[in-house]
Amino acid sequence: MKKSILFLVLALCGCSNPGQGSFSKAEKAVIDGQGEVLRVLTIGDRSDSLFLRGECKDFSDKELKSETFRTLSRKLISTVTDPSEDGVGIAGPQVGIGRRVVAVQRFDKEGEPFEVYPNVRIESKSGEMVSGQEGCLSIPGMRGLVPRYSKITISYKDPSTLETVRDTIEGFTAVIFQHEADHLDGVLYIDRADSLWTDNR
Ligand SMILES: [Zn+2]
Repeated sequence: MKKSILFLVLALCGCSNPGQGSFSKAEKAVIDGQGEVLRVLTIGDRSDSLFLRGECKDFSDKELKSETFRTLSRKLISTVTDPSEDGVGIAGPQVGIGRRVVAVQRFDKEGEPFEVYPNVRIESKSGEMVSGQEGCLSIPGMRGLVPRYSKITISYKDPSTLETVRDTIEGFTAVIFQHEADHLDGVLYIDRADSLWTDNR
């Protein structure tokens, strides 16, 4: 009797990936098994599309300190900056990793660097709603006009200090964060767009 309860507890821990969990075999296969540029999931593929509609989990502290997380961060930036993609932001589920992580180009910082934000959330949105053109690496050949807030406050976990950090962001960079954070909740820009059109340039 005791043995079966212990087994059940262990089985539950294995599935729920609690605070001290680590990357699954499938996640490691994606992160370590591909080249520097990861495959980008697109909505034209049925299983990709279902994955893109899922909700993402946070990283544990142990995971944030791992070599696997550092590799994922580096490859997210390699993927979004690859000439074949040439994006301004990318989210974990777009490369098949169902975790709360985004890489965003900080147009509001000197040198406009790409930075990686784990366990990111939008804490508040304010300012006026402004409609702007958006596209998505996972929805090739399409663009749309999407209303977004002009000012947001994000929170995320600094992987080196493991402290939760808050940052207030405005303008186009705030739009990118809203687009990428939506991905982590399974939401795509086409769900919010006022109008959509094909763009095969
Ligand atoms: Zn996108």
